[in-house]
Amino acid sequence: MNSKENDSKKELCVEFLPKGDLHVHLNGLISKAMMQDILHKEKSFYSETIDINPYLEKTKPYKSLQEYIRIWDVFRLVPNHRSSLKLMMEDAFINLKKDNVRFAEIRNSVIYISLLNDITVTEALRWLLEYLDVFSEKYGIKAGFIPTVSRGDYCIDNFKALLKAYEALGCPKSIVGIDLAGDEDYQCPKELAKLFRVTKEKYNLKITIHAGETGNPNNIRDAIINYGADRIGHGTAASKSKEVMQLLKEKDICIEVCPISNYLTGAVKSLNKHPVSDFIKNNVPFVICSDNPGFHDASLSEDYKLFINAVNDSSQIENMFDKQKKYTFIKGLQ
Ligand SMILES: [Zn+2]
Repeated sequence: MNSKENDSKKELCVEFLPKGDLHVHLNGLISKAMMQDILHKEKSFYSETIDINPYLEKTKPYKSLQEYIRIWDVFRLVPNHRSSLKLMMEDAFINLKKDNVRFAEIRNSVIYISLLNDITVTEALRWLLEYLDVFSEKYGIKAGFIPTVSRGDYCIDNFKALLKAYEALGCPKSIVGIDLAGDEDYQCPKELAKLFRVTKEKYNLKITIHAGETGNPNNIRDAIINYGADRIGHGTAASKSKEVMQLLKEKDICIEVCPISNYLTGAVKSLNKHPVSDFIKNNVPFVICSDNPGFHDASLSEDYKLFINAVNDSSQIENMFDKQKKYTFIKGLQ
């Protein structure tokens, strides 16, 4: 067998592996074609036609995380109708199914859906959970939902609105955790960390925090100590601090490693220098996740392949599904 055949065999195996995705955003999971379709259908809401192609160039890293986050300016223009959300959610599950993903924790910040559709946050959350359950059942993929709070001036208000909606809906089981995302340079009020910890305790919800993506390991320490994080999103700065690496290992806090995203945002300069090699060396737990496979124009399998190339070893992938089951917030999979 020549090396080309060998490569194709490796690709085939990766795609056929059962997988769990512990870090994926709903809008980032929608395929480019579906997103364009919805933007086209809803074009009456916009003053001009939006070309999202420039936002989807995956071969070139963005100049910064801020530039990558700007993609959301486009992706947050939809859905402007309940039927669009239904299309988006079904497309998300179709994409997961294609990649043999057996369970997924899907994130969304909810608030913008309520604003776009002029409905309450409770109603927006109800829409999301209804479609999550419908398509989870239809495609046989276990799904949990994680509301995302964005760092910024309204983070406390948004947190409280999400909590109120969660309570109003009777604390649905499909909500498995809470996430904090957005600009890490923004200093959130201390009250936010307390709200995360108290809510975790009161409702037995898990916490994941996007931290250490822009180079500061202190944000990971803050997430663990002050927010009570059970997992860390990205965490690429962890290996800069021995103390943080030790903390992750001792507390068995899993890092959600998203290779394609890390490369595109510039969180890692080169995939060969991805800190996941340090996580392996120091027994820091991690799982491979996709983050935004739709606008990466890729899939979780592509992340697996990049990871294998980065560490030059496929053995870590062999038990990846077991690790994903161990660290998922969805109950009953462990
Ligand atoms: Zn993310």
